[in-house]
Amino acid sequence: MPTTAEIIAAEDRWQLATYAKLPLALVKGQGSFVWDSDGVRYLDMYGGHCVALAGHGHPRLVQAIAEQAGTLLFYSNVCYSDVRARAAEAVANLAPEGLRKVFFCNSGTEANETALKIARKHTGKRRVVSMLEGFHGRTVGSLAATGMAKYRDPAYPLPADAHSYVPYGDLDALVAAFAGGDVAAVLLEPIPSMGGIRVAPDAWFAGLRELCDDHGALLVFDEVQTGFGRTGTNFFGEQVGVTPDLITGAKGAAGGVPAGVVFVAERIAAGIGPGEQGTTFGGGPLACAALEAIAQIITDEELPARARSVGARITAAAEALPGVESVAGRGLLLGLNLDRPAKGVVAALRARGVLTGGCEGLPNQLRLLPPLTLSDDEADAFVAALAAVLAAPVGVP
Ligand code: PLP
Repeated sequence: MPTTAEIIAAEDRWQLATYAKLPLALVKGQGSFVWDSDGVRYLDMYGGHCVALAGHGHPRLVQAIAEQAGTLLFYSNVCYSDVRARAAEAVANLAPEGLRKVFFCNSGTEANETALKIARKHTGKRRVVSMLEGFHGRTVGSLAATGMAKYRDPAYPLPADAHSYVPYGDLDALVAAFAGGDVAAVLLEPIPSMGGIRVAPDAWFAGLRELCDDHGALLVFDEVQTGFGRTGTNFFGEQVGVTPDLITGAKGAAGGVPAGVVFVAERIAAGIGPGEQGTTFGGGPLACAALEAIAQIITDEELPARARSVGARITAAAEALPGVESVAGRGLLLGLNLDRPAKGVVAALRARGVLTGGCEGLPNQLRLLPPLTLSDDEADAFVAALAAVLAAPVGVP
């Protein structure tokens, strides 16, 4: 095994420098843990950036992928497939009633592009309203709908009339955005993650739904981070009594195999025909084997309930720690608001063998996106490590 330094040097030699990477080279994962090339073990409270929904190396997922790879790795959507048929049913059945038509693609940004295309065609309108705290991906359409200017603005000048960005949770701003007319869709993360975890009141979600209905716009929930059980229900809307018209998912949907999903309301799906959207790799047999396995694991292992109970356990323990001012989020999408910048805490936790994240929008927020299979003991180990870090004199990890 090459050393960490050798791996870092080799990767940096050949790859575009587009990521601010941690000085870690990970070579193995099992359950809630990953190991680096020097043999050091880390508790993965970051979940591979919200992807390792069922933990690392879940036996059922690994078996499904291995069997499918040896049976039929790939064939395109030009033909039917047994595993795609099973995956479509399993994944669709996770969705709220009425939204059980799926389109498989490859990533979160592709899912959002697809949703925006569907919304524009279905409504015949053009404008997209999204949240200032929102992040929707790196391709042109998703980026244009991304409120976080840091990612969007250097990329390209936007046609100012096609997009409006409003503060998450602000109903008056939404009303003003609709006043401009021509709104095809409101696209939002129901809980912003990269922009800073917080949850708007139920009444705001109800108002949002009503405004979309009144103006004939589609409501699109980007559940790339919140979906597939992470916030304590399969998808977030049911917690606030709102059903969107479209839901986009990716990240944990196939547990680490690249896959995106668009859930489409059946009345909208009825108007979509051949050629309107497509992808070579989306819905390929390998991805579908993983999608099916994850959908089964979510249901059989009751991962949403697990996310609720472990999330509540972490929240209660963390709220009692000096240095934690409040805990935001739902299930196992948690933002611990600290009395200090999260950056140093993330580094100090890493030095103690725990991976966590910060977030762009709220510098004092420590972001947790662990596997939903996290055990109570592992949750307690995280809290103990955090307590030690927060109690240490500044500058001492
Ligand atoms: N939407 C949200 C909420 C995300 O967090 C991300 C990625 O971090 C995306 C969309 C884009 O997903 P992908 O990187 O798979 O294109």
